[in-house]
Amino acid sequence: MRTRFAPSPTGFLHVGGLRTALYAYLIAKQTGGEFILRIEDTDKERHVEGAIENILHTLNWAGLHPDEGVMMRRGVIVQKGDKGPYIQSERLKIYRQYAEKLLESGHAYYAFDTKEEIEQMRCEQQQAGVVSPKYDASVRMKMKNALTLSKEDVQARLEAKKPYVIRMKVNPDQIITFQDDIRGQCTFQGHEIDDQVLLKSDGFPTYHLAHVVDDHLMDTGLVLRGEEWLSSLPKHLLLFQYFGWKEPRYAHVPLLLNKDRTKLSKRQNDVDVNHYIQKGYLSKVMVNFLALLGWNPGTTQEIFTLDELIESFSLDRVQKAGAVFDTEKLDWLQGQWIRKMDKEEFTQRVIAALPEPIKSSIHIPEVTAQASLIQDRITFFSEIPEMLSFFYEEPRVTVDLLANKKQKITQKQLPMILDALIRTLTEVKEKQWNENTLKEKLFALAEEKKLKSGQLLWPLRAALTGLPYSPGAFEVAVVLGKEKTLARLRAARATLLESLPMC
Ligand code: GLU
Repeated sequence: MRTRFAPSPTGFLHVGGLRTALYAYLIAKQTGGEFILRIEDTDKERHVEGAIENILHTLNWAGLHPDEGVMMRRGVIVQKGDKGPYIQSERLKIYRQYAEKLLESGHAYYAFDTKEEIEQMRCEQQQAGVVSPKYDASVRMKMKNALTLSKEDVQARLEAKKPYVIRMKVNPDQIITFQDDIRGQCTFQGHEIDDQVLLKSDGFPTYHLAHVVDDHLMDTGLVLRGEEWLSSLPKHLLLFQYFGWKEPRYAHVPLLLNKDRTKLSKRQNDVDVNHYIQKGYLSKVMVNFLALLGWNPGTTQEIFTLDELIESFSLDRVQKAGAVFDTEKLDWLQGQWIRKMDKEEFTQRVIAALPEPIKSSIHIPEVTAQASLIQDRITFFSEIPEMLSFFYEEPRVTVDLLANKKQKITQKQLPMILDALIRTLTEVKEKQWNENTLKEKLFALAEEKKLKSGQLLWPLRAALTGLPYSPGAFEVAVVLGKEKTLARLRAARATLLESLPMC
């Protein structure tokens, strides 16, 4: 099945756009077809410099490499395939040629109305109680077009280069039914459809003409696009009919929603994929997350690689209702993917995230051990420098941190607790400095002192890290080693003495 993604270069790639691209990619790959990338730049006013590059970079980041159409090769935009050009502004002659075919067959007509005349028509319809005014069969005979002007007049206007548009002619009595791959059966009434402009006065096609011509000539099997295009579908189906072409399959994907179920908006969420890249989300996470926005795999599986998605994705499990963009789920998935990461790869990521002076003096076995402490705890790689800071600099320990109400540790108990920890840990032999021995010794100590284990472990962990949250006391002590562990406990004891001179 040939599918395509057809973004307009009007800015960054929207998360909804990336989801549409992903679904189209998955269908192409699972059916052994091609994934085509077409650039729809027919709206000159909304064109943004650098947007094509940005969109292509973002698709590459996500691993959605087009087989055909517009793509990036060594940083340069290129087009590949025998059905091009794939950039609409390079296809203007083709659109004109096809618009002219519709003129010849009587399915389209020239219209010369000025902006003011169109505005006047709207006002009159509104005054007459029409809810959504449009240029259609009810008004076309009152307007300035090839249906009302004489042939000579039309010819004279064209020769005098008077501005004109080409409109499609819609029969208001027509009923159009269609089977959408997601929405099911859709029925449209001809009288709801306007005589849509197909070719604008600047010679550029509208989306409607360009879509139909391109998807026919590019041999698209399935058009996957946002739900906002569903209401235009009857125009497209009519155009296919007018040309005598077989229409492709269509699947209109549901809207993305904010938590309050309003349409996903910048005000409540970031909608630019770049924002998520900069925040440090893994591309695999974004792909996994977007796939599940609207698609239900029908099993309890939630973690999917791109290959697994190619295997399992199907349009009949895409819901019609909008899908809530749940950033908590996104963070959860990011955590899951980090946990799954190969240890070596994760260590490399840790090294990359450490600040420069540390990076150049690290020892791989040490950093591997440190990395293993945090792989289950982080969501973003940007958390790494802070999370591992206590390995590289002396922790700043305060009495407030050492004591802890929740763990029922009073400031008064602290000298006794720290002394006991120092004494017990000094006795552990260097060779036996491992989690099992430390656990055994400290649990025995807690029993002896009639303390809860937390009353020993909290101050130990706090003294070693200086942080309210960190990996657990045993793990940290093992990675720090006996010497550093005891030195930090003694330092904490000294801090305590300074702050509580009465102890
Ligand atoms: N250029 C259109 C958009 O960005 C594409 C819709 C389509 O896929 O046909 O919304």
